[in-house]
Amino acid sequence: MAFDLDAAIRKIPDFPKPGILFYDITSILANPEAFSYCINSMVETYKDTDINAIAAIESRGFIFAAPLAERLSLPLILVRKKGKLPGETLSKTFDLEYGQDTIEIHKADVGPGQTFLIVDDLVATGGTLRAAIDLLTEAGASVKEIFAPIGLPFLNYSEKLGDVPVRTLIEYD
Ligand code: AMP
Repeated sequence: MAFDLDAAIRKIPDFPKPGILFYDITSILANPEAFSYCINSMVETYKDTDINAIAAIESRGFIFAAPLAERLSLPLILVRKKGKLPGETLSKTFDLEYGQDTIEIHKADVGPGQTFLIVDDLVATGGTLRAAIDLLTEAGASVKEIFAPIGLPFLNYSEKLGDVPVRTLIEYD
């Protein structure tokens, strides 16, 4: 029987504000069987693909991307909030529901010839991922696929992400 990932995900109503059901991945991390299931599923999915680099979205994306990069022996690039990376950066500002946000990558670590998988913990509206795709593309790389353990397709992320395929382990509507 397949692993029951749904049972391992804590759901918190009205967080961080009324009306939002928050899918909390800390309960996956606290459950070694659940975390292993996620990482092993990712390794199985990507071990034979032609991606040659992994980009991780701050901060929960880091947790899933790092073991995958190590297991597949691929470079890991951190996509961070503005002001966190010490070297020369490329940045992208994008719109949120209220206001704007800026993400950055280290310029020296990204360039032509790289084919990326982007990893996050959850795909909601896809706004952050869209900005990350644009940033990596402007740096000369290409983005082949997006992975997150959890997807919320009812938020229509595929409209924002265009032809970049999204793979998840569980989806909620
Ligand atoms: P978005 O740019 O809308 O796809 O969402 C950005 C990030 O917010 C996601 O990567 C998640 O880490 C977090 N997030 C958004 N909605 C939820 C939710 N309902 N439950 C847990 N995390 C969420």
